[in-house]
Amino acid sequence: MNIRIADIVPESFVDGAGVRFAIFLQGCKRHCRGCHNPQTHDLNGGTIMDTADIINQFKKDSIVRGITLTGGEPFLQIEAATELACAAKKFGLNVWCYTGFTFENLPRQAEQLLKFVDVLVDGEYRESERDLSLLFRGSKNQRIIDLRATRRTSRLTLW
Ligand code: SF4
Repeated sequence: MNIRIADIVPESFVDGAGVRFAIFLQGCKRHCRGCHNPQTHDLNGGTIMDTADIINQFKKDSIVRGITLTGGEPFLQIEAATELACAAKKFGLNVWCYTGFTFENLPRQAEQLLKFVDVLVDGEYRESERDLSLLFRGSKNQRIIDLRATRRTSRLTLW
């Protein structure tokens, strides 16, 4: 399946816990002021890749503990992102996903991707709430949600 990609960082230490294969999906409509990845906004930018090629890259890497879907906005390419997340789980990797949506306002089709996601970092970047001391996120409104615990308890649970 085709996917539009801005970048891939095969061994990232800053996009979630542990060493992670970070996939920056191309395309975001939010244009948050101060966004760190403005090159990912253009919906027609980046490079088109085959999800199978990306899966082949991360399945061979014995160092990575998980994959991170980030961007850009992963939920704008939900089917391709789901394919990557599903494959990662098959190979025993955990899945983190960043989104500009809040958990409560995700698109209706989000569940197909969410069922393979362990940790969701939600909410758009707000420059007025920027805090450099935060782990794995840029502004205070963003939350790191433990989706497995949230599903287990039926209550939103932070990581
Ligand atoms: S949602 Fe994320 S990628 Fe999109 S503009 Fe905001 S900070 Fe940038």
